[in-house]
Amino acid sequence: MTELGNYLIGKTIGEGTFGKVCYAKHQVLAHDVAVKILEKKRINDELDIERVKREITILQMLHHPNVVQLYEMIETDTHIYLFMEYANGGELFDYIDLKKRINKVEACKFLHELISAIQYIHELRIVHRDLKPENLLLTTQKNILVVDFGLSNMYEDTLKTACGSPCYAAPEMIQGKPYYGLQTDIWSCGVILYAMLCGYLPFEDNNTQVLPKICFIRWKRPYKEHSHC
Ligand code: ADP
Ligand code: MG
Repeated sequence: MTELGNYLIGKTIGEGTFGKVCYAKHQVLAHDVAVKILEKKRINDELDIERVKREITILQMLHHPNVVQLYEMIETDTHIYLFMEYANGGELFDYIDLKKRINKVEACKFLHELISAIQYIHELRIVHRDLKPENLLLTTQKNILVVDFGLSNMYEDTLKTACGSPCYAAPEMIQGKPYYGLQTDIWSCGVILYAMLCGYLPFEDNNTQVLPKICFIRWKRPYKEHSHC
């Protein structure tokens, strides 16, 4: 255990792009938190610096029961520590994997919580842009907690930077066209709902360029033809 500020930092619970996520405990309040540790030496170019600044600014704005709460930020010469609400139920991804598929009632509850979080961030003119089951965590009460605002952005009109995981990204985003962030977040929610109910992804191919075509063909085909259930 390493001590930093009021916290004792413990075991690693996740791997991030710029460093790891660890479990930590507030020594005075005795409550559990997660700390996302960003290694400054891994944040190299201008774009990465912008991305991290944006993640912190956006996290500071957010207060919603289904969105991770940032408690405190500590910056040292080498690292940035983001102390956040801890979701000890793991990733929705692992939950789907464990259950094979989620029953309709529970999937409906998760979707409701996800949409409530997304409606809230959209009202603040924020788009997440990386919604996927790895970035949806479960709390002790098995409620959804949206995390990872590393690719999020404020929007005015359309956006151009294609980002996120291709299997969850809307066709216009993969094709490199300007897109409406609100709509592409909603697309990802649809893919997540499909993954929860079926246990596999609706659109998958190693070649991301063919994904928009697959989306189009599948819309036109009756469901049972491509069902793996
Ligand atoms: P990255 O932006 O690099 O993808 P994330 O913020 O998604 O980093 O964190 C990586 C992983 O760490 C998550 O997928 C999750 O497993 C774990 N994690 C992140 N935040 C929390 C949290 N608040 N509580 C518990 N685990 C977390
Ligand atoms: Mg992530």
